Amino acid sequence: MKYKRILLKLSGEALMGDDKYGINTQVLTSYAKQIKEVADLGVEIGIVIGGGNIFRGLSGVSKGFDRVKGDQMGMLATVINSLALQSAIEGAGGKAKVFTATKMEPVGELYTKAKVLEGFQQGYVAIIAGGTGNPFFTTDTASALRGVEIEAEVLLKGTRVDGVYTADPEKDKKAVKFDELTFTEAYEKKLKVMDLTAFTMCSENNLPILVFDMNTLGNLMKVVTGERIGTLVKN
Ligand code: UDP
Repeated sequence: MKYKRILLKLSGEALMGDDKYGINTQVLTSYAKQIKEVADLGVEIGIVIGGGNIFRGLSGVSKGFDRVKGDQMGMLATVINSLALQSAIEGAGGKAKVFTATKMEPVGELYTKAKVLEGFQQGYVAIIAGGTGNPFFTTDTASALRGVEIEAEVLLKGTRVDGVYTADPEKDKKAVKFDELTFTEAYEKKLKVMDLTAFTMCSENNLPILVFDMNTLGNLMKVVTGERIGTLVKN
C-alpha cells in the first residue's frame, strides 16, 4: 500500500458526468464502488466534495444575490453531494459518516479532527462537508485544510482529466501531461493544479497533491497501491 491515510477531493462538476446539472447516478455509483474497495483494504479516507454541479457563490452574484449568501448556498450544495455519496457508499456495502463545517445535526455531525480519527478507527469513510464553513473560500481550499488537519499523506484531486497538462487538454490537442512537478515549477509555469490558497496551504504544510482521473473505474485503487498515474505535485 502506498498510502494509509488520504484526503480525496471530488469536484462537484465531475459528479455531473455528461449531464448539465446535478448528480449523475452512474458517476456517483462508480465513485462509491471505488471508495469502498479502497476502504476495504484498510486505507483511511477523508473526502471533500465540491458543489459546483448544484450552485456556485459567484454565479449567485451574477443573478443579484449577496455574495455571502451565495457562498452559503454553495456550501449547502456540498452537503447535498456529501449525503448522496454517503448514501451510495452505504448502498455499495461500505460505512461512511458525514461531518459538517457548521452545526447541522441531524444531517451530519459537527466536524472535529478527533471525531474523524475516531471514525477511521471504527472503519468509517469520513465525508467532510460544507467547505471551510466560510464564504470567499473554495472546496479546493477546504480539502487542503482538512487534508493537513487530519494528517493525510496525500491530497488526491479526482477530476475528469488524468493529470496536469501544459494547456487545457479538452481544448488543446497538443497539450502534454506532466508525471511529476514541484510546487515551485507548477507556480512558475502558472499551471492550474488547485486554486492558489489551496496550493499554498499544501506547499507550506508539505502535503503532496496527486491529480488523477477519478471517472475511470479502478483508478483510485491504482493510486493507493502505488501505480503511477496522474500528476504528482510535491516540494
Ligand atoms: N464555498 C464557500 N466556502 C468554502 C467552500 C465552498 O463559500 O469553504 C462555496 C462557494 O460559493 C463555491 C461553492 O461553495 O462556489 C461550491 O464549491 P466549489 O466551487 O469549490 O465546488 P466545485 O467547483 O469543486 O464543484
